[in-house]
Amino acid sequence: MKNKFKEQIKLRGELLKQFGAGYYFEREKKELQKTDKIQLLEKLRKKIGNCKLCELHLKRNNIVFGTGNPEAKIMFIGEAPGEEEDIQGEPFVGRAGQLLTDIITKGMRIAREDVYIANIVKCRPPENRTPKPMEALTCLPFLKGQISIISPQVIVCLGKVAVSFLLQRSEPIGQLRGKWFDYNGIPVMATFHPSYLLRTPSAKADVWKDIQEVMKKVGLPIPVKK
Ligand code: SF4
Repeated sequence: MKNKFKEQIKLRGELLKQFGAGYYFEREKKELQKTDKIQLLEKLRKKIGNCKLCELHLKRNNIVFGTGNPEAKIMFIGEAPGEEEDIQGEPFVGRAGQLLTDIITKGMRIAREDVYIANIVKCRPPENRTPKPMEALTCLPFLKGQISIISPQVIVCLGKVAVSFLLQRSEPIGQLRGKWFDYNGIPVMATFHPSYLLRTPSAKADVWKDIQEVMKKVGLPIPVKK
């Protein structure tokens, strides 16, 4: 048991070194080709393996790595997989996921496959509870690795958990949404999580405003209302 714990600490240290804030591709500022990005994402996924670094591994069915275009201009980051995501091994495939898909396809008028989608933690917290800080911080190097490889033009943080762990902000999401932040030189827009929109449909107008700012930032045309 003691050895297992030591192994986990060692692996975590290695991961932090390889995929943390100082990820080597960022330091080199190397322009990665699509094939490099695909290979690096596969390598990162292999590194995660059957990760047991935090207690979220105990009840998960699948690790939900992330999905989408490795060359995406826009990366969406949510909180954690839910029940459906845990079953399918893909992020944002439940009811909230359908809403996110609508935002992307009907609002932004691009394909879901054009963006990249991931979460702060890769395993479902029991009963969909909020990830504990230690779980989020343990898993974060994997997400940072993905961001470094994909190197999107813009990140959209969906909800308070994404904002607080990626940007180290503690204010309520209502105060942060609609504002631009910075993560290692990448502009980050904070907005509400789609599951909040399911409970509070009136907030959809705010999210649409935030999404339009993102569209302007990456040069997507804003659909004109008829
Ligand atoms: S949530 Fe992340 S750190 Fe925790 S077990 Fe899953 S992959 Fe590992």
